[in-house]
Amino acid sequence: MGYKLLCMGIDIQGCLGYYIHMPANHNIPHTEKSKAKMSASHKGIPLLNKRRLSRTENGVEIFRCSSCHNFYPREGFYKNKRTILGLTSECKKCHILTSIKTRNRENGKRLNRESARRNRAKNPEKFRERELNYSHKREKNEKTKARELLNAAIRSGKIIKPDRCHRCGTIGRVTAHHQNYKKPLEVEWLCYECHGNK
Ligand SMILES: [Zn+2]
Ligand SMILES: [Zn+2]
Repeated sequence: MGYKLLCMGIDIQGCLGYYIHMPANHNIPHTEKSKAKMSASHKGIPLLNKRRLSRTENGVEIFRCSSCHNFYPREGFYKNKRTILGLTSECKKCHILTSIKTRNRENGKRLNRESARRNRAKNPEKFRERELNYSHKREKNEKTKARELLNAAIRSGKIIKPDRCHRCGTIGRVTAHHQNYKKPLEVEWLCYECHGNK
């Protein structure tokens, strides 16, 4: 509606033409100014107008948060080696809020898994000890009993552990997933990833 009003009294064709035939930005050759800007950015030269606002208060330099626009001293920001100041552009509070907003649960799970795997490879004894302590403390519930019965069946050869995941077909270590702990020998063999997503 607003668009029609805008075109009233002038050549409709020309008006539409303006909107439809607007060239896309990447079809325009770079200007000397924009080239200089890109070159500076590649060399890591900060643009003056892009410098973070700062001022000195009671002898302490304080910087502006890009998000809430409040000023904080260095301690109010997390460290980030990629920036000139070595600080994130957002204050700690805003940084946390942004990371919660943009958090990707699946990716987080994957990163945790990978870091646990790395730590385990670095220090297997520590992990083994921790797991052993944990298993001694844990009381035997339905789940543990089902697992014990299943392990006994595997040892005796009654059940053969496959080498691939039932769900995604990945070859490698698989873990048993119980649909029902009352039926300890009825299991679905899944890789860590598929088991984690259950
Ligand atoms: Zn902030
Ligand atoms: Zn799988």
